[in-house]
Amino acid sequence: MNSNPWQQALHQLDEAAELMELDPSLHAMMRSPKRILEVSIPTRMDDGSVKVFTGYRVHHNTSRGPSKGGIRYHPSVTLDEVKALAMWMTWKCAVVGIPYGGAKGGVVLDPKELSPAELERMTRRYASEILPLIGPERDIPAPDMGTDEQIMAWIMDTYSMNQGYSVPGVVTGKPMAVGGSLGRGSATSRGVVYVTVSTLKHLGMPVDEARVVIQGYGKVGGPAVQLLHDQGCIVVGVADVMGGVYDPRGLSPMGLERHKDEAGTVAGYEHGEPVTPEELLELECDVVIPAALEGVITEKNADKVQAKVVVEAANGPTTNEADVILGDRGVMVVPDILANSGGVTVSYFEWVQDIQAYFWSEDEVNERLRGIIEGAYVEVIALAEERGITARQAATILGVGRVAEAHRTRGLFP
Ligand code: NAD
Repeated sequence: MNSNPWQQALHQLDEAAELMELDPSLHAMMRSPKRILEVSIPTRMDDGSVKVFTGYRVHHNTSRGPSKGGIRYHPSVTLDEVKALAMWMTWKCAVVGIPYGGAKGGVVLDPKELSPAELERMTRRYASEILPLIGPERDIPAPDMGTDEQIMAWIMDTYSMNQGYSVPGVVTGKPMAVGGSLGRGSATSRGVVYVTVSTLKHLGMPVDEARVVIQGYGKVGGPAVQLLHDQGCIVVGVADVMGGVYDPRGLSPMGLERHKDEAGTVAGYEHGEPVTPEELLELECDVVIPAALEGVITEKNADKVQAKVVVEAANGPTTNEADVILGDRGVMVVPDILANSGGVTVSYFEWVQDIQAYFWSEDEVNERLRGIIEGAYVEVIALAEERGITARQAATILGVGRVAEAHRTRGLFP
């Protein structure tokens, strides 16, 4: 089998389609993205030269509402990756029952190699190039790997300047000053923690003192350390792209944060043993949370994962081959389209607040998020147990089924 993310995503869809006896014409429609845009992004660099970057925006499906999905800035971005991420967004929005289809965007670059001014010019030009595809009623981007709330503010401003008035609802994950939502910054991590706690309880494992390792210390992995600690879990290992650190007695969330602020990485944190991001996944622990790139648990290391639970905070971190190995070994995998759906759920809350120009308290955001994630978790696990299938198969069947229902109800145009 192929570790290309698009092939992985197609395989997951095909498997769900077979299990649910999906109408072959609907299956065929869902196998293809609705539209794909590739753009070139000429950017004036600080030294006066011009560099041309490549970017994408893919709409996978819009049968349930406008499309929604992050924008990734990373040197390994490919069209196949963006297509896979867009498809997963479609199922994710349907699993948590929010009225969006799936989209994704990406630019092939390392944002750390650009100055802030270069990054702003590149972002504004990319936003201009994908302008015909985005809008609060069409497609609403958000941050993903390598992008942040400042980048969302530049996209919101570029779109608004072209419209002639402010349109906060065109992106989510914005700063509060331009219509962001309280609670959005930690929403994905919070969702990850809700499903981790639900899974431990479901498996009859104690939440208190559950040993957790997290690969990735960015917008998702970073806040998850403190939130898991608040639940009584012990975070024994953390890694980012530069390296990792392990202490079986537990790492201090505040100490890690301080070290990251000073050194720009968790690597080299003095209160623990150094580990590589790869070794981290094989440490003795109860829960592994991949929160960085896709394809990190493969047929090469799946039999070395010692945890009983894998919670996919990242998109697509487990290859299909690894999924089978983990399943055979009795390791529970909480799939990405459920585990990291807290981000898009609060993005939806942000969009609703922008459209109504009426903002909620952080407690309201967090409580509504918890209700949605815990409700979706119960539905996915109930279906998995009823059918004797994995949580990924169950979540995909739920998502695909809801999209199919929307297609059937709307009918085929013309
Ligand atoms: P980010 O750019 O904020 O952080 C990424 C982290 O991963 C960084 O700590 C980076 O150093 C680390 N990393 C990169 N390559 C690595 C490697 N080879 N080994 C170990 N660590 C590595 O990105 P993010 O927003 O936290 O996204 C992480 C994952 O979560 C992605 O798969 C993304 O699609 C997914 N996700 C993000 C959100 C969100 O709201 N940001 C929502 C849903 C899913």
